[in-house]
Amino acid sequence: MGYVDLHLHTTASDGVLTPSQIVRYAKAKGLQAIAITDHDTIEGLEEGLFEGEKIGFEVIPGIEVSAEHSPGSMHILGFFLDIHHSPLHEKLKYLQKARAERNPKILEKLNRLGIDITFEEVLRASGGGQVGRPHFANVLLEKKVVRNFQEAFDRFLKKGAPAYVDKFRFTPKEALHFINEAKGIAVLAHPNTLGIDQYSELEKLVLRLVGEGLRGIEVYYPEHSLSEVAQYETLAKRNGLLITGGTDYHGIEKNGLDIGVGRGEMKIPYSMVENLKALRNRVSGASS
Ligand code: AMP
Ligand code: ZN
Ligand code: FE
Ligand code: FE
Repeated sequence: MGYVDLHLHTTASDGVLTPSQIVRYAKAKGLQAIAITDHDTIEGLEEGLFEGEKIGFEVIPGIEVSAEHSPGSMHILGFFLDIHHSPLHEKLKYLQKARAERNPKILEKLNRLGIDITFEEVLRASGGGQVGRPHFANVLLEKKVVRNFQEAFDRFLKKGAPAYVDKFRFTPKEALHFINEAKGIAVLAHPNTLGIDQYSELEKLVLRLVGEGLRGIEVYYPEHSLSEVAQYETLAKRNGLLITGGTDYHGIEKNGLDIGVGRGEMKIPYSMVENLKALRNRVSGASS
């Protein structure tokens, strides 16, 4: 059995490759399956699924939803979504609207800081998908306002920086609810961004989320240390949760992480897809 990558971004959010390109790239790299998991949007899925069918490559329709959480950030992955589920479309439309209202505010703040940047430039940088802070960062980089992508976040765009504007997020409970409603399998993405160091505290949170519809944990992730991987694996196994893994590939030119392998160390077995499917079949069998 081969290897997979269950966390990827396309131009539908802030990735570099279009959905078709990422599917072809994954196949060329010798992977057996991928999940497309754009931030807060399923706009890339139809194209990705179509390309997969065309070239004979397995594509799992997914999403990565940002949920309200502090002190860190919480992202929830949804796998095997029914992309035609209309309540899901409603929720995501609401998020798009919140984004559309936020972007001009970020622009205004940057302009007030004396930076000459227009919305047209940001739109161009977004490649036609949803517009977010990474696209602002790219324009700042292009214009040599900053020397690299990270500096754009550190000086202007990150939480607490002068051009930061808060964004509406669903609560974890709401996000888990609409993922489940659309037949998605909900998995907690990269738990190391939650800002929780203590195992017992993390377990408490995860158990609460399980009560609200969480089914798994993304254990394998390029930014997880070995001890974090061990901790999350224990947490998943003790509580009967699924384990997934992915690189969060956005384009290798962005951060050096490549599809399937991350910095070269990742190997995500196809058995994780089988486990997701087994759970999906159990859930849909139980409810029909
Ligand atoms: P947005 O959805 O517009 O809030 O942008 C979120 C994206 O910005 C994330 O997926 C990251 O790719 C990027 N990002 C957020 N915070 C940072 C940060 N502190 N440094 C670098 N990139 C960041
Ligand atoms: Zn991203
Ligand atoms: Fe994420
Ligand atoms: Fe991601």
